Amino acid sequence: MEQGNLFVISAPSGTGKTTLCRRLIERISGISFSISYTTRNSRQGESDGADYYFVSRRKFQEMVSADDFLEWARVYDNFYGTRKSDVLSRIERGEDVLLDIDVQGARQVHERLKGAILIFLLPPSWSELEARLKNRGTEDTSKLKCRMSKAKSELEAIYEYDFAVINDDISKATEELKSIVIAQRCKTPRTLTRQDLVPPLKSS
Ligand code: ADP
Ligand code: 5GP
Repeated sequence: MEQGNLFVISAPSGTGKTTLCRRLIERISGISFSISYTTRNSRQGESDGADYYFVSRRKFQEMVSADDFLEWARVYDNFYGTRKSDVLSRIERGEDVLLDIDVQGARQVHERLKGAILIFLLPPSWSELEARLKNRGTEDTSKLKCRMSKAKSELEAIYEYDFAVINDDISKATEELKSIVIAQRCKTPRTLTRQDLVPPLKSS
């Protein structure tokens, strides 16, 4: 059976990854979000098992020792990781999976699964990024400063990604993400595994 695709989305915090991932999944079938494990506290409105699996540092460390993670990283004093079995089982069933992870995690995924498609999301400007973070109201002033300075260094990783999408107009950005997923599904080798019109390539 044909395997599913793995899409990785990274962006500076506050760019709109969470918002766009939700919109994408609502608008296209056959793709689901990978819920990460984290040691950070839940924010207002977040729930365990829906936004993240919120775990203790001890539990996270046990999972690292058991080699449970496809990738994991320390981000802003907390640990975040993607459980290997959750992702691989879906891909093996032919389903597409979407990861919202930082650049350290994206590099690890790229190393382990060469076919993963890496998408970098950009804010329209630094001032708009700061405004979105402030408007979200989840970070105090020192955390906000930290996220802004990390954003600038994360941007240097953009050349390691296959696609870049600017999240200015949310509808346009959603359409661009959708197009990337659709284009990936139309790649020749994948299309050929779904139909038998084309004769196999002869060697002589
Ligand atoms: P991230 O997951 O990248 O940290 P969020 O999805 O939490 O970012 O978005 C940060 C804030 O920006 C949220 O308040 C969200 O509603 C807002 N936002 C997301 N996309 C846009 C957009 N295109 N235009 C204006 N505001 C946006
Ligand atoms: P937040 O705390 O704002 O939800 O996420 C902070 C950062 O952690 C974001 O850049 C997000 O993409 C990243 N992140 C979330 N889950 C994972 C994960 O499983 N692995 C890695 N490496 N990063 C993650």
